Amino acid sequence: MISLVTGAGSGIGAAVARRLADRGDEVVCADRDLASAEKVAAGVGGMALLMDVTVAGAGQQAVDRTVERFGRLDTLVTCAGIERVGPAAELGTDTVREVLEVNVLGTFDVAAAACRRFVEQGDGGRIVLIGSVNAMIALPGQAAYAASKGSVLMLGRSLAVDWARFGVTVNVVGPGVTDTPMSAGTLGDPDRRAAMMRRIPLGRPGRPEEMADAVAFLASERASYITGAYLPVDGGWLAAG
Ligand code: NAP
Repeated sequence: MISLVTGAGSGIGAAVARRLADRGDEVVCADRDLASAEKVAAGVGGMALLMDVTVAGAGQQAVDRTVERFGRLDTLVTCAGIERVGPAAELGTDTVREVLEVNVLGTFDVAAAACRRFVEQGDGGRIVLIGSVNAMIALPGQAAYAASKGSVLMLGRSLAVDWARFGVTVNVVGPGVTDTPMSAGTLGDPDRRAAMMRRIPLGRPGRPEEMADAVAFLASERASYITGAYLPVDGGWLAAG
């Protein structure tokens, strides 16, 4: 199987790249930080790709490069994402636009390119989008990020409905707080960490590998009848409300 992972240079994306390689996939590790993508790719025997998901045509180019190298594409996992936090009235539209461009439009662009390829190949495909618990739960300071992840959730459901006729499944994994560079600020501050942990029934952050296991399942043949689903991997946070 041939897999393309965006945001593969760090955190959840790097763990996904490793997990998919462990099961035998050839993995293309795409990130806007080429050095980090190269490091992960070297570790999994895969290919590194410089990719800024906000650049016009980046999704098509990433799919084309994958096909040039490996002949086809079977799985796309979109992990590239950013978070910008601040009081909503002061965030500014530039910041909100930046977050939406990466998290929503950047996801849409590469998913559409992958789907076009899947249609050409004629035998379906798997797409897994990385959403967030913030698609469901609003926290202070998260207006831009939560709006983007709510959009990713509905994007995933919409693409699943649109592309089912091509045999393409689209699902969304919703991480809770996960131990990666993105959450280092929160988890590194004892008070903020403690407040966060009180909300999580399992009482600890997730590990990137735990997100990767959920992704690998949804990107496997065993998940052949699952599409349009949102799979929370959040230590029970959503269940607790
Ligand atoms: P991370 O460690 O910061 O990894 C994200 C990767 O995506 C980084 O390498 C980042 O590069 C890259 N990236 C950002 N913008 C990009 C762009 N325009 N084009 C290509 N690559 C880009 O964060 P993570 O925690 O693994 O996050 C992965 C996904 O999980 C994100 O969608 C995030 O929203 C989601 N998530 C994370 C958590 C959490 O607690 N960590 C919880 C819920 C959901 P730079 O380092 O240069 O920005």
